[in-house]
Amino acid sequence: MNVLVMGAGQLARMMALAVTPLNIKIAAYDVHRDQILDPVTQEVLPLTLHQAIADAKVITSEFEHIPYPVQDACEQSGKFFPNSRAIKAGGDRRQEKQLLDNAGVANAPYAIVQTEQEFYAAIATLGLPLVLKSALAGYDGKGQWRLKQQEDAATIWNDIADFMRNADQSLPQAIVAEQFVRFDREVSIIGVRAKNGEIKTYPLTENLHVNGVLALSTAIAAAETLQQQAEHMFMAVANALDYVGVLALEFFQVGERLLVNEIAPRVHNSGHWTQQGADTCQFENHIRAVCDLPLGSTALIRPTVMINILGVDELDPKLFTIPSLHVHWYGKTKRAGRKMGHVNLCGKDIPQLAARLADAVALLPPSDFPELAAQVQRLQQRG
Ligand code: AMP
Repeated sequence: MNVLVMGAGQLARMMALAVTPLNIKIAAYDVHRDQILDPVTQEVLPLTLHQAIADAKVITSEFEHIPYPVQDACEQSGKFFPNSRAIKAGGDRRQEKQLLDNAGVANAPYAIVQTEQEFYAAIATLGLPLVLKSALAGYDGKGQWRLKQQEDAATIWNDIADFMRNADQSLPQAIVAEQFVRFDREVSIIGVRAKNGEIKTYPLTENLHVNGVLALSTAIAAAETLQQQAEHMFMAVANALDYVGVLALEFFQVGERLLVNEIAPRVHNSGHWTQQGADTCQFENHIRAVCDLPLGSTALIRPTVMINILGVDELDPKLFTIPSLHVHWYGKTKRAGRKMGHVNLCGKDIPQLAARLADAVALLPPSDFPELAAQVQRLQQRG
């Protein structure tokens, strides 16, 4: 094995699929089962974590909630990229906010809350509505509360206090109270930083979330000034962390201004479109960076939409008649709301992409694939 990935989900699988043509072999550590796996076949490999760490040329990660002792063991090997400071900043909203503030990167005003007194102080300072997020272990909108009116404060505090009492007590828990941002849209930038400090970024991606989960990402060339603003913030964060690999920054766009919502120290769902829409996909570029190979071009080769497949394990086969439509299944067992795969759909220009998306919408039930019809209209207006 050349690369050991912490985490054995779809991101490790897609890294392995992307770099098999480069003769790079990937093994993955399933944190929950404490097993080393082939991330594509899920076959268990006869290795302990410590043997796998010793055997690997390079160690990387596909998610940020890796137990600290495991991260420490990886770090001590001297071959862990990105470093555990970056992974920890992605897994703890307190460290993330500190990092953004230190790097001078705009983000939503916030306060750290551990006690009832701090909770009410945050309401007084930041105002309502507030979004309250657990500092640890929150993702895809989980461990989050919305406080819209003062009358609900006591009920929400009781919920939060319960959550903190029931959470893993081996780590200090807290809540990050954030001012509610009335954003115009959500966008993200995916980029890659090499060991020599070289940085390449992909074009901004527009993201639509439904119930806190990404439903749809669209990559079309954004306004130059917005792209530059995002790249500038990307560089500030990546350089501050001495980052190696692919990093994602998610933003709220308010007018022409970007505020970072969160960072992900890994390949990211909003970058899956790069498999068909970019010169080199995020998975290959991540492995190139951590293996100290030259980075591949991040240029957009054609406008692309990525549609998440959530809680469904079958699609109408007529979808395959749509040109430049590609299905990526993750080989997972179906569960309500679970990320099962995604579809990438490309066009030579925005009108063609809109027309193809309209054809796809007719074959994808709106109950499982919300927002698609509205996106066709938005693309038609832009084209
Ligand atoms: P997160 O887990 O922080 O990415 O939050 C999930 C989703 O909740 C985001 O993609 C936004 O749509 C929404 N959200 C999170 N924080 C805020 C905020 N401060 N203001 C408005 N919406 C937010």
